[in-house]
Amino acid sequence: MSSTIDIAATATDRPPVLDDRALLGHPRGLGLLSLTEMWERFSYYGMRAILVLYLVNALKWDTARAAHLYGTYTMLAYLTPVLGGYLADRVVGTHRSLVIGSAVISAGHFTLAFPGMTAFYLGLGLIIVGTGFFKANASTMVGQMYREGDPRRDAGFTIYYIGINIGAFLGPLVCGGLAQTDRFGWHYGFAAAGVGMLLGLCGYVWGRAKYLPGIGMRPSRTDPATRASSASHATAGPGANPLRHALAGAIAGGAIGWLVSGFDMLGVSMGLIIGAALGVSFLGSHGEERKRVTALFIVVFFVIFFWAAYEQAGSSMNLFADKYTNLNFAGRIIPSSWFQSVNPFDILLFAPLFAAMWTWLGRKGREPSTALKMVLGLALLATGFVFMVVGGSHADTGVTVSPMWLVWAYTFHTWGELCLSPVGLSYVTKVAPARLASLLMGVWFLANAAANSIAGAVAAYTPTPGEAPPAPAAGLGGFMQSVSATNHGFYMIFVVAGFGAAAVMLLFVPLLNRLTSSVRA
Ligand code: GLU
Ligand code: ASP
Repeated sequence: MSSTIDIAATATDRPPVLDDRALLGHPRGLGLLSLTEMWERFSYYGMRAILVLYLVNALKWDTARAAHLYGTYTMLAYLTPVLGGYLADRVVGTHRSLVIGSAVISAGHFTLAFPGMTAFYLGLGLIIVGTGFFKANASTMVGQMYREGDPRRDAGFTIYYIGINIGAFLGPLVCGGLAQTDRFGWHYGFAAAGVGMLLGLCGYVWGRAKYLPGIGMRPSRTDPATRASSASHATAGPGANPLRHALAGAIAGGAIGWLVSGFDMLGVSMGLIIGAALGVSFLGSHGEERKRVTALFIVVFFVIFFWAAYEQAGSSMNLFADKYTNLNFAGRIIPSSWFQSVNPFDILLFAPLFAAMWTWLGRKGREPSTALKMVLGLALLATGFVFMVVGGSHADTGVTVSPMWLVWAYTFHTWGELCLSPVGLSYVTKVAPARLASLLMGVWFLANAAANSIAGAVAAYTPTPGEAPPAPAAGLGGFMQSVSATNHGFYMIFVVAGFGAAAVMLLFVPLLNRLTSSVRA
């Protein structure tokens, strides 16, 4: 019997949460999870909005160094969820992971509120570890509230995504607002992020027993779906040993990471983790399951291109707002970090419209497949960068430009995101076998990890006024330097890469649809 059938059969043993329809037709636990994730994202994006600006303006780092640190930090914050996911699937359970993660994240932000470089690096480290426990597991728990084939799942993820973005919208306003005024300052901004996460933790602990009974428990003891699924897997044949698979994958991945990154420790860690995740999920699955896992990895590969360009928001586009944009608004200067709130605000505006559009198309039997939506997402993202190229070419003449260039770029990015990200989260919970649910959610976030490190490396070439151009380099570095001599040249990179990735992914759509043909709703 396939594990898919097991999941469906045992889902009826689940608590009544699955039948709760009290929140807009969804379980009330969805509201609780969305609120908790809202506060977590409030802290993440609030702090992210000021990180590069703090490094460049307060600590006087040069752009390249700041962009690298930003890239490394955000990469690690998205790399650890795969480890947290694995731990949750096998030992801790998603509920406990969420509690541990929230506590460690808020400790991290509070540590950043203290001056000094030791506190700074320690704080970043704590946030990275805490996010590992938190991020993938929060999304997996949303998936745990719907049975296989439940048509409410996509809509549930849209609601959850709105929660994420209320946090992402308020974070930069509050933390950036405090950080970029003389009355308070940077460290108040960091502390505000900590307060947000703490509120999220308190709310979750308060409402959990009532709204999420039985969800997210330790897997083997209480979750029948996972137990049944691992039992069926145990009979799948000899050699079905996750540790052996992880080790085989890690060795191969680590070696590739070592070579590709030119012997860089971060590259090796990335290779080890991606390899181990591939080993556990690919070698540890069979038949239909393996096809779905393969599809997921192909999708994740293309999604890297999306996030690598999209993540310019916190670094190069953040600096574009700070250095090249006219910040005079109705007689006062607005903090440049506030531009970070445009994208989440657009999400709040457009997510319901996109959800309604998919449902409408679905009713007519014309809803695009998830893979095709992602192609569209990449194309919309690339279109957004066309606005940066045009706005950038004005900035290149030495004037400060209208904020509308950034606003339009972010709006197109948001439309692209809505075709790719909420549907992506939902897709992962549909294609993943229950025993690998959180691990594979972590794999989805691995795309963000890889993308953030690429994004940071590219953003290091951000044209910055008053900074001497770096010494001429050969090879790829030299090429990047020459295209990045101007704003319009720099942003053109993302137009070309975005449309290129969309075109190639389009060729993969039929294959991806075939590999996931057994997925219901
Ligand atoms: N902006 C979303 C978040 O931070 C991205 C989710 C994703 O990577 O799919 O949660
Ligand atoms: N839209 C992003 C996400 O959904 C948030 C952001 O980049 O501000 O979390």
